[in-house]
Amino acid sequence: MKYVIIGAVAGGASTAARLRRMDEKAEIIMFEKGEYVSYANCGLPYYIGNVITDEQKLLVQTAVGFKNRFNIDVRVQHEVISIHPEEKKIKVTKLSDGSVYEENYDKLVLSPGAEPVRPPLPGVNLPGIFTLRNIPDTRQIKKYVEGRHSAVIIGAGFIGLEMAENLYHLGIEVTIVEMGNQILAPVDYPIAALVQQHIRSKSINLRLKTAVTGFESSGQGLKVLLSDNSSLDTEMVILAIGVKPDTRLAANAGLKIGAARGIWVNEYLQTSAPDIYAVGDAIEFTNPLCGISMNTFLAGPANKQGRICADNIVLGNKRKYKGAINTAIVKIFDLTVGATGIAAYQLQRMNILHRVSTTRSASHATYYPDAEQMTIQIIFSPDDGTLLGAQVVGVDGVDKRLDVLATFVQHKNTIYDLTEFEQAYAPPYSSAKDPVNMAGFVAENILNGLLQTVYWHQFEHLCEQNSGFCLDVRMPHEFAAYTIPGAVNIPIDELRNRLHEIPAHRPVYLFCEIGLRGYLAQRILLQNGFKDVYSLSGGFALWKVVTKEQQLLNPG
Ligand code: FAD
Repeated sequence: MKYVIIGAVAGGASTAARLRRMDEKAEIIMFEKGEYVSYANCGLPYYIGNVITDEQKLLVQTAVGFKNRFNIDVRVQHEVISIHPEEKKIKVTKLSDGSVYEENYDKLVLSPGAEPVRPPLPGVNLPGIFTLRNIPDTRQIKKYVEGRHSAVIIGAGFIGLEMAENLYHLGIEVTIVEMGNQILAPVDYPIAALVQQHIRSKSINLRLKTAVTGFESSGQGLKVLLSDNSSLDTEMVILAIGVKPDTRLAANAGLKIGAARGIWVNEYLQTSAPDIYAVGDAIEFTNPLCGISMNTFLAGPANKQGRICADNIVLGNKRKYKGAINTAIVKIFDLTVGATGIAAYQLQRMNILHRVSTTRSASHATYYPDAEQMTIQIIFSPDDGTLLGAQVVGVDGVDKRLDVLATFVQHKNTIYDLTEFEQAYAPPYSSAKDPVNMAGFVAENILNGLLQTVYWHQFEHLCEQNSGFCLDVRMPHEFAAYTIPGAVNIPIDELRNRLHEIPAHRPVYLFCEIGLRGYLAQRILLQNGFKDVYSLSGGFALWKVVTKEQQLLNPG
């Protein structure tokens, strides 16, 4: 058997290594148009920021290493220029001398990845404007950054924000320009707002709802032209506005391209040509939660697909790929934020019914030092509580909770399962009720009607529109410091004795700092004859951040 692989980084390298483990006798050739194979592209921003100081550490494997350990013939700086499925051969350009040759295959695997989007804006190719995908890009940026003082990052996705943090740590004044209303498209607005506030606290200039319209040279640097007719002077620009699947080879070979513009594959990761398989960023696959074909631009799925694909090639389509739920995480200064499954706003667009619950809990027992608050938002079906997505943001213990929630989402578990999740508990690590349990408890209360919630964007409006009674059940000193306009303060501990102060025939919209006292207050009121009582999801703390971000977005 002769296996040929195109692309030698995450998906390609992982397929090749597994192929060898499964088939010792096969001939395996892996083509890579770049100079490097199997490098850690996820670490590139941290190398630019000097968090990782040794470039060698990013090079997980070399062509020689592949030969010695796996007996795989890796041909770097060889670009595959065409695929001919009927003849089962490819054409390759050897980039060192431009010569072109053919190679035949029994089975071919495509893992060409995704390319950074470089929009056709005036001046986009001026010196000092970079995209980041590979080692040569990294070296260029790292060299250019020396002695610079300012940078504009365009796009506030995962890579853009990682670059913002790393350049900031190098002492560079960073501006982030984002066309959308929020950063980080995979999370819902309240979670993004918490991160936005944190970014602003680092004196980073965050310009939301602002598109870049072009670039001009200006003295020693660049002028970035913006949609509001303003401009930014800077010494360098990082374009991080997203990636698109590299489907050129596949499309030219007549392979089917899917609705999400990725290479179409079946459940065995086989393309429309039976002897050609494809993995990684270049493919699209049905999302198991919503049934819609989607792209996934993540290293984990690419690596795991490589293993499944190799098994299917050697064993004959035995292992089905179930699809990715897009679990992703990023460090943004002191915060960690991550998401799994589908965000509420995306479900809204797909007309998929869902409920949302936002909770704040401590990362571990609050009596043990250094506990930090984290916010968890879970999204679930109103019918049976099946989890559809989760997002977590905080300082400590976020990755652990996100991974647990991702497991529940991936296995189509429900919010009731979260209430029973048995965590490892000792005071330094968790609480007797873990934040994941708390998220489940609150969602369960919502579904069984014990807790009626309203959300940040409805709150003030409902208080005014329905002549609602806005009730702050926090302590008087908290109320005095700042509250929601129009709110009346009856602290939770005085509520039972002051029920007569609450109008009986008006809906009551109540809140506390994070939601717990609000829930208790709601239970007291509902069991004392009040019917229309609603609690602010996520509490005043979340409302304050989100409304502040809204004001910055829509001043006046
Ligand atoms: P790639 O790893 O991109 O490999 C494709 C390779 O194919 C490339 O080396 C390319 O040169 C080669 N190639 C393409 N066409 C040809 C051809 N015609 N002939 C020969 N070779 C060809 N994901 C995460 O999950 N977490 C992270 O923290 C994270 N951070 C990232 C940070 C950065 C800066 C970048 C760029 C990506 C990051 N990713 C992260 C995404 C992750 O790296 C990708 O999802 C993953 O590498 C995809 O694997 P792949 O094999 O599909 O493509």
